[in-house]
Amino acid sequence: MLQPKLSDLPKKWDMIIIGGGILGAGIFHEATKLGIKTLLLEQNDFAWGTSSRSSKLVHGGFRYLGQGRLGLTRTSVVHRQRLIKDAPGLVEPLGFFLPVYKNQHPGKWMLGLGMMAYDLMALKKQHRFYGPQELLKSEPYLCPEGLLGGFHFYDAQVDDSRLVLRLIQEGVANGGTAANYSKVKNINRDRQGDVAGVDAEDVETGDAMIFFAPVVINATGPWTDQLHPLDGTDFHVRFLRGSHLVFSSETLPVSHAVSCLHPEDGRFVFTIPWEGVVLFGTTDLEHEKAMIDSPKITEKEMSYLIEGVQAFFPSLSITRRDCISTFAGVRTVFSKSKKDPSAESREHFLRTDKGLISVAGGKLTTFRKIAWDVLKLAQPHFSFYPRIDTRTTLFSNSFNAISLNSGLSENTVNRLKGRYGKGAERLIHDTLPKDLDHIPGTPTIWAELPYVAKYEQARHLADILLRRLRMGVILPGGGKNHMQRIRGLCQPVLGWDDARWEQEKNNYMNIIQRNYASPGKGLL
Ligand SMILES: Cc1cc2nc3c(=O)[nH]c(=O)nc-3n(C[C@H](O)[C@H](O)[C@H](O)COP(=O)(O)OP(=O)(O)OC[C@H]3O[C@@H](n4cnc5c(N)ncnc54)[C@H](O)[C@@H]3O)c2cc1C
Repeated sequence: MLQPKLSDLPKKWDMIIIGGGILGAGIFHEATKLGIKTLLLEQNDFAWGTSSRSSKLVHGGFRYLGQGRLGLTRTSVVHRQRLIKDAPGLVEPLGFFLPVYKNQHPGKWMLGLGMMAYDLMALKKQHRFYGPQELLKSEPYLCPEGLLGGFHFYDAQVDDSRLVLRLIQEGVANGGTAANYSKVKNINRDRQGDVAGVDAEDVETGDAMIFFAPVVINATGPWTDQLHPLDGTDFHVRFLRGSHLVFSSETLPVSHAVSCLHPEDGRFVFTIPWEGVVLFGTTDLEHEKAMIDSPKITEKEMSYLIEGVQAFFPSLSITRRDCISTFAGVRTVFSKSKKDPSAESREHFLRTDKGLISVAGGKLTTFRKIAWDVLKLAQPHFSFYPRIDTRTTLFSNSFNAISLNSGLSENTVNRLKGRYGKGAERLIHDTLPKDLDHIPGTPTIWAELPYVAKYEQARHLADILLRRLRMGVILPGGGKNHMQRIRGLCQPVLGWDDARWEQEKNNYMNIIQRNYASPGKGLL
């Protein structure tokens, strides 16, 4: 997947997608499978928006059951099961505990009913109730006071930005084109008002192009109303920020994900083991529109989350100083009212206007369903009729076709296949044995660094360390202690001179400091 130059690209397309988050990438991937000649344009890096800052769950959303959103939960459970099957090594089952405490609301009886409904939707009995002693044996640091036991159940988890990148890679392999750092400035229409294409510009080189297509998909997440204002509808966009804290697994040792009710407001808050660290979140608060380009955790959210982690795991005496990093993402919700943020619908929102189809909201989990909904609306605009088959597996290439004989563990091989698809074979093939080791404290191997730098359209160091790999979030100080080795592996394949490397490193450290550190505190 090499960087395309906008002015070298064909001018005419069947479809143009604006936005390289999960929705844009999911639509791109499904469209290219159908032979639709598709161009995807992303103004920053792929997955730079909300899709690299989620809770990383592929889940039914147990809490949505309590809100009576049975349809959304059922669709999400079905897609969870399909993704686990279709994308091993990228989407993996995750065991959860939902502890039950004395005087808690909802209590054991209500939660038990929810668990049964959750199992029914998956057509599989997956939950079991543990007594307090048995639960504490599995999760010894949980608060024992008033503990009545807890439900064990399954959801799944993903590396969100790697899912986006895999979809884009596969879409490019199917014949599509995807350009990052390419902003759509304007949507063009003909005299009848029908969509005719877009004006796009490479935001760094200034290379500009007019592209033509009879259908344009606006999948720009929090930026959605900038290209397609909501004038004339009853809706307004709400931006809801969710923030997470990241701890080392020594600081917060859990062997399952744990979902507890926050003592302050009774919201479900998750403790999630992920990529060798443990995430704790999320908040759900109004976010200022002026800040959508740069979401970060606030002091108030930090206090709320620390209060939660201390209440659930009191014997660990965790403080904000233990936090490795933080991250914050913005949810786009279309609302007619000013409800409690957590009560707002997580369904996706679609609008069409003479060839312009805007889609936003929804969940990472249901990205395929959303992609099919969009393509059904786009169908009449093509000169041929692409047949959408919702029964196909996600990725067409067979995992078993890749033979990897490297001495790596089965887990690592699966992980590489899940993240890089067929590229996994090249990754191993191009690698020196010393780079097959894990980066300490992570499941990532050193060899992934030169591979993503060379083949995955990374323009900046931050693209490599925050989205293609997640070292910026999972390593203390954004991985600054490993910078020498990172440089040795990446600089030669990127072709950057020393001055460029220094500049990239400084920019990266500034981003980490500004958006991924704890408020009011330097990096660990
Ligand atoms: C805190 C939080 C936790 C979440 N956790 C989960 C979870 O665990 N599981 C789950 O299923 N869902 C979760 N979600 C929901 C899910 O993450 C989002 O619904 C999803 O990531 C949104 O994807 P998107 O593609 O619509 O938007 P984005 O990922 O924001 O992508 C939009 C892209 O459009 C680009 N863009 C904007 N304007 C232009 C332009 N003019 N030209 C070109 N490109 C442009 C942006 O740069 C951006 O990259 C969570 C959401 C939040 C906020």
